[in-house]
This record gives sequence, C-alpha cells and structure tokens, in this order.
Amino acid sequence: MTEVTRPPIVTILGHVDHGKTTLLDFIRKTNVASREHGGITQHIGAYQISAQGTGDSGQKDKNSLKPATSNLITFIDTPGHAAFEKMRSRGAKVADIAVLVVAADDGIMPQTDEAIKHIQEAKVPMIVAVNKIDMSGIDVKVQLEKIKKQLSDRKILVEEYGGDTPVVPISAKSGEGIPKLLEMITLVSELNDIKGDPQEVASGVVIESSLDKFKGPIATILVRDGTLRKGDQIMVGGSKGKVRGMFDFNGKSLEAAGPSTPVEVLGLEGVPAVGGLLGKESPSKALAEADKEVKSLVDKLRQGAPKTLKLVIKADKQGSLEAIQSSLEKFNEEGEVVNFIFSGTGDIGEENIKLAAAVGAIVLGFNVKIAPNAQKLAEAEKVLIRTYNIIYELIEEMEEVVEALLKVGQVEEVFGRANIIAEFPFGKGERIAGCRIIEGEIAKGRKIRIVRESAVIGETKLKSLRKVKEEVQKAEKGNDCGMLFDPPVNFQVSDVVESFRVI
Ligand code: GDP
Repeated sequence: MTEVTRPPIVTILGHVDHGKTTLLDFIRKTNVASREHGGITQHIGAYQISAQGTGDSGQKDKNSLKPATSNLITFIDTPGHAAFEKMRSRGAKVADIAVLVVAADDGIMPQTDEAIKHIQEAKVPMIVAVNKIDMSGIDVKVQLEKIKKQLSDRKILVEEYGGDTPVVPISAKSGEGIPKLLEMITLVSELNDIKGDPQEVASGVVIESSLDKFKGPIATILVRDGTLRKGDQIMVGGSKGKVRGMFDFNGKSLEAAGPSTPVEVLGLEGVPAVGGLLGKESPSKALAEADKEVKSLVDKLRQGAPKTLKLVIKADKQGSLEAIQSSLEKFNEEGEVVNFIFSGTGDIGEENIKLAAAVGAIVLGFNVKIAPNAQKLAEAEKVLIRTYNIIYELIEEMEEVVEALLKVGQVEEVFGRANIIAEFPFGKGERIAGCRIIEGEIAKGRKIRIVRESAVIGETKLKSLRKVKEEVQKAEKGNDCGMLFDPPVNFQVSDVVESFRVI
C-alpha cells in the first residue's frame, strides 16, 4: 500500500440559473493556462486546476505517478443533477466534495432542495457557495442570514452555528470570494483525508462518452484511484478495449493518469455508458446486466434494422404516463423514431407482453410491477421488459437506444474535398481560406467540415465562395477558390475542407 493524498473531485450542484456554469467557467478561465502544451483546450467533462491560480493544470511530470498533493482540484464540468444522479444510480461514487450554489437573491429553490437530497444521499461533504453577491439591489448580509436560516431549517448546520458546513459568499461574475471558495475546498479535502494509491490498477467512472467518426468510441474517464496507462487493457461500462491514446483536458497526450485525473481515452470497442465503471471495483451484477440488456436490445434492433423503436408503456399514474410520452416525443421531431404502440396505467400483464411480442416492441414499466405470468411469457417470447422508478433514467436509457438506432444505417456522402493552401485576413477579424479543390465539387448551401489529420476540427457552412473575384455557387476539382465560413472555424493552412451530407 502506498496511499497518498489525491486531489479532491468536486461537483457543482444547485438550482437552474443560480450560476453553476458561470462559476465553472470562471474557475477554469482564471486557473488554467489553456493551450499550455500546445494542445487545444477541450470540453471533456472535467478539468483540473491548481488552487493557487498559477496556471498549473495538472501533474507536473506527465509520467509522474505521484499526484501533486498540495493544491490540485478536479472539477466535474457537467453541472446538473441528472448526470450526478445517473452516476450514483449506477453505483458509481464520483465526487468527493459537492459545492451547492445558491443565488443570493433567490435563496433556496426547489432544485436546491433536490441537490441537497442527492448530496446527503451520496454522503459527500458539502460547501455552500452563496453566489451573485455583486447584484445591485440586494442586501448581502440579510440574504446570507436568510439562506443560513433556510439551511438550518433543513438540518444543515453552517459553521457559524456550530455545524460543519462552510458557507462562502461569492460572485461567479466578478470572481469575488472564489479564491476563498477554492481554499475551502482544499481545507475540506484535507479534513476528509482523500487518499489514492497510484500503484493500484486504475478504477474510475465514465463521465462522458461519444462516438467519433474518425477516432471511434471516446470516453472521458475520471480515474479516481490507481493509475491508468497507455496500452492498458481495460473494461469500462460494459465495453472493453486497449488504451490507445489518452489526453488531458488540454488535449495533451498522457502516458499515465494517476488518481483524480480526468482523461479522454481512445481505443474502446464500444461507447461505454455514462456512469459506467472502470476497473477494480467491478460493477454490481445488476449494473452489468442493465448495460448488457441495453446492448442486446440495440443488437436486436440492428439485426432487424427497423426504423422505429416500438414501445408498450405501463405506468402507475396517468400523469407519469403523459410525462414519459411527452419526453419521448422529442425524438419524433424529425420523423417518427419512437412509436407508441400502447400506453396504459397499471402493472405489466400478459396481454402487454403478447402485444409487444406481436409487433416487436419493448415494454417499459414506470413504478409498476410485472405480473409473474407476464414475466414468464416475456422470457418465453424474448420480449424485453425494462422497469424504472425515476423518469429521467427511463428517458436517458431510451436516449441511448434511440441514438444507437439512428446511427444504424446512417451513411455519409462526401461531395468534394479541398486543400487549404493559404489564408487571407478579411473584414473585422475574419479569414478567408484559399483552397484548391482536389476531389469532386464544393457548393454553397451544403454542410462543410474542416478536417485536420483525420480529426474533425469543426462543422460550418459557406458564407461566400469566390473564384478569383467572382462569387460562384460551386467550385470543381482543379479550381482554386476563396472560402468564407459561417460560423467561423479555426482552420489553418494544410487542413482539408469537406462538403458532405448525412443520409
Ligand atoms: P446555471 O443554470 O446554474 O448554470 O446558471 P448560469 O451560470 O447559466 O447563470 C445564470 C445567469 O446568472 C446568467 O445570466 C449569469 O450571467 C448570471 N450569473 C451567474 N453568476 C452570477 C454572479 O455572480 N453575479 C451576477 N450578477 N450574475 C450571475
């Protein structure tokens, strides 16, 4: 055992509009020297700062297995309860410390209460940040007292009242109080003795994941303990793979990532679910099964390649049913993806299974039980039943399924490619890309993307396309032309411009 202190992992929760995003942005902006490694600062769902504001963004030696102990803090950069809850519901412990943001003018609001519930259930220490103290027209002192009273009404004892919950007044806008907040995080972290063992096999949790056309599955993994190394064979959230590439939030390539380091990992064979676990704390059986079921469902849908997801939904109440349906309706905005075969209230019975089997639907249950004979029939007929107690879990799982479904059979057509061979300044800070078409044609109105070393840098459209001085609708192989992109993209000479569509 070579346990050492590791940086605390902090999550920020609170009511909508109370300033979570502004706070995360401010901390990142003022404490991270971006592009310090020549990389591109990217959003990977978490970042690490040095609380002293020196701009040190992480371990000093990229191969060091010793996490610096003093003042590093890892922030999970996906505010919102849904992600937090989802990770928790999958059994993942993510954060070590929660910062509860409460706007000074509003005080505690319904989602603040929800956040408090989550934090208490997760048993992580909490720091209250009373935000927006810069606002004109509020008496900060009075509001602070009011909020402390509201907290104590909820049995959260603040430090001044003899409790152990610190309250720090801040302004995420001006930055006032933020150094104090960071100091408090460090202090609470010291008090809680947050430890990790860099010599252990890595364990952690997926905080973001996606499928990149060129890079394949990408997962942001927060290594909580142990060290993850390039070349490691891993199993994470039901997907296996070998760590082919590993990058920190500055896009810097890492050979090894020690405790509390968020990293983007390439090399997995599938896209792991958010909240999926990495490594030694093997996921609970139920967890593994849930992931497996989603997978098998997707496989099934793939085989038949149906274009819609057919659902039989049973819920406890009409109200829940409506909420579920209207949330799932969003998938149908651009054509029918979800097909509601039947919805009703009450337990899942044999007749529901028969119907689902007949049309190839899956059965969703919300706060309902499955009748024993229905269960048996479902097994015999190979009908998949999924039950939930939390609506967003249902929605999120269906999101995963729909996403996977939509990807099936999606084909891309590339109309043309061009090399960027020069750039010219244009107007106020804009740039024109001087291009040579090397393949096909590039026309106005179509989607454009900029590709650099087989990675997509950005997607955009053509605002202007000129051959010499003449504005044209399209340019063909062999033509030289000037392109102005809208929205602007950060292209550079030697990038490739592609005109494409997704079918
Ligand atoms: P979130 O929903 O909790 O992520 O809240 P946002 O960070 O998006 O902030 C909501 C609104 O409050 C935005 O208009 C912010 O500009 C504003 N805001 C956030 N922090 C402060 C602050 O410290 N002072 C003031 N005056 N406004 C703030």
